[in-house]
Amino acid sequence: MNKRFLITGGAGFIGSAVIRHLINHTSHNVLNVDKLTYAGNLKSLSSIDNNPRYSFKKVDICDSNSIKAIFNSYRPDVVMHLAAESHVDRSISGPIDFIQTNIIGTYNLLETARDYWETLNNDEKDIFRFHHVSTDEVYGDLGDTKGFFTEKTAYSPSSPYSASKASSDHLVRAWHRTYELPTIITNCSNNYGPYQFAEKLIPLTIKNALDVKKLPIYGSGEQVRDWLYVDDHAKALIHVALNGKVSDTYNIGGHNEMQNIDVVRIICRILDELKPLKSECVDKYEQLIDFVTDRKGHDLRYAIDASKINIELNWKPSETFETGIRKTVSWYLKNREFLNE
Ligand code: NAD
Repeated sequence: MNKRFLITGGAGFIGSAVIRHLINHTSHNVLNVDKLTYAGNLKSLSSIDNNPRYSFKKVDICDSNSIKAIFNSYRPDVVMHLAAESHVDRSISGPIDFIQTNIIGTYNLLETARDYWETLNNDEKDIFRFHHVSTDEVYGDLGDTKGFFTEKTAYSPSSPYSASKASSDHLVRAWHRTYELPTIITNCSNNYGPYQFAEKLIPLTIKNALDVKKLPIYGSGEQVRDWLYVDDHAKALIHVALNGKVSDTYNIGGHNEMQNIDVVRIICRILDELKPLKSECVDKYEQLIDFVTDRKGHDLRYAIDASKINIELNWKPSETFETGIRKTVSWYLKNREFLNE
């Protein structure tokens, strides 16, 4: 059955990957609702935006009248909620937008979804899903332990970003428990791949390296993150939205734990091979690495146990970090203008 997906934040990094996949590889319909903040870029959708199964509305998820009108006219079967303020550094320097979009915006969507869901007949109610896309950062810091985040790990967010995402996760669970809204939550590790705004570690490193600028690394670069290629995440999200169990949570990860310094070194080596430096001052990209004062409250290690989604929904990532990062660097070399958007 063809479904109507309402995707929030579809002009962002992960949302646009979900939409490209839905349009290119399924027969479902998509309405993309995005405010187009600095992080939203419709060029990431230019390959599919003429497709009759795709439409776009520039709307803020905090604008309840517009969101209500969209639910009533589009009548979604699946809401996949990705719209968020997503950059930890920005949340430290200015938390208010994170509280507004990530908490109030999610509340607004939940209330609208609840009102809409209550008007549906029983068959339509059974089909409807509210899928909230969240992060592993809600679980806090694993420090120097060898443990992993499971779906049962207690929340302990460290930054204004992760605290706002944790708040939104709690709201989603409450809307299921109290009002029986059919919700699902996914918590994913760090994503990388094409079309990511060049403020996050991987595209920022590629951008600075190509400009022969310093490559800043927080602290000693020993922070460990689990990296997942964005198209693997997009496929997992669609799979969970269509096949996940109502009220359940699924952790999504790439089985690719890496220290930040190693991520940067790998990018440098791929660039040495694909785009050797012609500068007179440095001959290897690694010489541009610059250790800077650590981020306030910086978590040392995140690591996902993704066995539940693997066992129950038979999902696993197809890219390793080695294959995914090579694709990513090659893509940015061919699409350099995207690094300067
Ligand atoms: P992004 O910053 O690239 O994109 C966010 C999108 O949301 C942008 O298009 C922006 O315009 C839109 N948006 C922001 N505020 C809005 C508002 N008030 N109304 C409507 N649209 C608004 O983010 P991303 O990296 O694609 O992340 C998407 C989701 O996945 C977020 O919820 C994030 O917390 C979660 N997540 C991200 C990662 C990651 O590594 N990037 C990992 C796990 C989870």
